[in-house]
Amino acid sequence: MKHLAEYKEEIHSCSKCGLCQSVCPVYKITGNDCTVSRGMFIMLKGLIRGDLKMTRKLNRYLDLCLKCGACSKFCPSDIDVVDIIASAKAEYFKQSFFEKLLSFIQKNFVFGMGINFLKLFSHNIKSKKFEKKVIYFGGCSGGIKGNRAVVKLLNSCNIEVITPNFKCCGISFYVRGDMDNFSQYKDSYLQIMKKYGIKDVVTVCASCEKTIKGFSDEINVKNIFEYIRENNLKLKLKKNKKVTFHKPCNIDNYEDIKWILDNTENLEYIEMQDYDKCCGLNGISKLNEYKIMSKVFRDKYNNIINSGTKTLLTSCLGCEAALKFYSLGKYRVDDFTEFLVKNI
Ligand code: SF4
Ligand code: SF4
Repeated sequence: MKHLAEYKEEIHSCSKCGLCQSVCPVYKITGNDCTVSRGMFIMLKGLIRGDLKMTRKLNRYLDLCLKCGACSKFCPSDIDVVDIIASAKAEYFKQSFFEKLLSFIQKNFVFGMGINFLKLFSHNIKSKKFEKKVIYFGGCSGGIKGNRAVVKLLNSCNIEVITPNFKCCGISFYVRGDMDNFSQYKDSYLQIMKKYGIKDVVTVCASCEKTIKGFSDEINVKNIFEYIRENNLKLKLKKNKKVTFHKPCNIDNYEDIKWILDNTENLEYIEMQDYDKCCGLNGISKLNEYKIMSKVFRDKYNNIINSGTKTLLTSCLGCEAALKFYSLGKYRVDDFTEFLVKNI
């Protein structure tokens, strides 16, 4: 985990071309350069030089960033914006009692007691035995939903699934700049992996996948869609279903998901406009920024409604929660793997 000052070179490599402005969902609404990577980097340069101080106002701009990474994908200088914003958030976290309180509540009540309670109702099944074995990193999603969908799909690919009792991947602590708690989740993951001695990990959640990929170069993390496609597993739904799909920002291999959407019998896939635009998850908790965030949500909502389908699929627990939050009962949101297993 690098400190903000260690990103000095990367921040300096910003050519101020402004391409990030054309893709940033927040900049599109605010038109304010302080709310997109180019403008934030100018402020962060000042912070590193000591010309600026970390204030609530500067933190407000960091908080408005959805951490979607859309700007990084277009950035000609190949700057990893989300990592830099997280390291700047870490500077604010150190001095903010409120941020620490939020982390305490989140760790102990949401990811602690909350998930432990929901685990009582999760659907876990025993995997069949095969020569090929993978570890399932369920994170919070696995805690709430159990391993049933993953085991059924991977057993159909002749893969055995081992389900240890992992904690959260810690991504929400990372984006808030709570690096101590984030490191604890990382250590817990690495300890469990060491105990099992298996190097292949499967996830169903895009955010978990991206986060745990950064924990170790020696562990091979893939999402379940890669396994399904690699094994040419063709599925057939019991009844005709029409669906659309929201691509989480954190997923890289949408082509595997598209392959499944296109090759599943009785499944009609309608690609909605801007299917790959951020759902606005990181804006949900920003009640003080409701005017800006509601516009991010409204664009997504309208695209879902205009797709003409009533079922929206996705593959990230955070996106699922955000999309349900503003669905207003007009469409149903389902995790893609859960949907497949329920309908085949
Ligand atoms: S796209 Fe990259 S290089 Fe261009 S202004 Fe934005 S952050 Fe800087
Ligand atoms: S990560 Fe997303 S919200 Fe943040 S500056 Fe980049 S495009 Fe904008």
